[in-house]
Amino acid sequence: MNDTALPFDTAILDKLADVIVGTGLNLAPGQDLVLTASAEALPLVRRVAAAAYRAGAGVVAPILSDEEITRARYLHGHDGTFSHAPGWLFEGMAKAYEGNAARLHIAADNPMALSDMDPAKVAEAAKANAAAYKPALAKISGFEINWSIAAYPGRAWARQVFPDLDPDAAQAALADTIFAASRVDRADPVAAWAEHNTELAARRDWLNEHDFAALHFRSSNTDLTVGLADGHLWQGGAAEAKNGITCNPNIPTEEVFTTPHKDRVEGTVRASKPLAHQGTLIDGIEVTFEAGKITRAKADRGEEVFLKLIETDEGARRIGEVALVPHASPISESGVLFYNTLFDENAACHIALGQCYKDCLRDTAGLSDVDIAARGGNSSLIHVDWMIGAADTEIDGITLSEERVAVFRGGNWAD
Ligand code: ZN
Ligand code: ZN
Repeated sequence: MNDTALPFDTAILDKLADVIVGTGLNLAPGQDLVLTASAEALPLVRRVAAAAYRAGAGVVAPILSDEEITRARYLHGHDGTFSHAPGWLFEGMAKAYEGNAARLHIAADNPMALSDMDPAKVAEAAKANAAAYKPALAKISGFEINWSIAAYPGRAWARQVFPDLDPDAAQAALADTIFAASRVDRADPVAAWAEHNTELAARRDWLNEHDFAALHFRSSNTDLTVGLADGHLWQGGAAEAKNGITCNPNIPTEEVFTTPHKDRVEGTVRASKPLAHQGTLIDGIEVTFEAGKITRAKADRGEEVFLKLIETDEGARRIGEVALVPHASPISESGVLFYNTLFDENAACHIALGQCYKDCLRDTAGLSDVDIAARGGNSSLIHVDWMIGAADTEIDGITLSEERVAVFRGGNWAD
């Protein structure tokens, strides 16, 4: 393997590959794997494939992308072609999942790579892609199969995150933060993940036992009550897919999360970190909710993009996820803005505008979209997470009988 030129110790990639295949996917003997990744992540992709075959994988099917090829489309593609999407490829993926293939994505590209391209072309292509991808995405969001997302320190992404460092130092710094957040800098990463999953499960179970009607968030600039969906279920860490395999969909992960009630969110909240959305940095978001709906919205930077986002459809003005992440988490302590949701959402408590997770409701067998909405689950074409947790965040759980229980104090779990 020729990865001697990389400015970080590549031996740690073997540990990351073992965590991805063993803990992230928990790949079963005989299972096929659909693996999408940036071509730059090949040093990790090759190790993942080897680990998968050692674990008894059927066939590993890598589908690689390249930032320069993606950019070439927007630079040279002809007008009228941006509504094209590889539906045939996504149909093949959906077919693979129907046959119980597992799914892995390795993120490595600069999330801001398209920030200097024509936003209309990027938006048109994104919309066409989302529509064509729907059948495959439904298998993943319905948790039909075990899946996972992990990250590799790409060079352009590293320069975006650490603009003041030279390219080698930036890539080394991003590698360090990704490896630490993914817990592969430990002596026994698989054991570290088992311990982490046990801790997340204890938080999740505690919240499920209390079955709070609402959470009340307070910090400077924020006074927000988030009602929770009727029969909501907290999730976090390892979870069992419908094919019976317990996997960790995100490497790393620090959150416990559930479905809020789309009509029971009241008050004002200010974002605690910027949000990178389709190449635009949106900073200083401040919104007011009334009866679940955003009635006032502003941002210090990128306001136009944010206002357009919440106009996407009826559900884009309501929230579909609330997640708790302690301020003392490793990703938060790195103090780094990754411009990537996989990392940034695991740095702070967050809410997501748009689509809810059906898996965050109890007794969903046979539940129709109308039933989900009646219980408070939101629906939308978008699901956009943004951070609201800070060092001074206080959260009370409010029970059905209006009693208050301390959940967060000073940015961290109360107990
Ligand atoms: Zn989340
Ligand atoms: Zn989310």
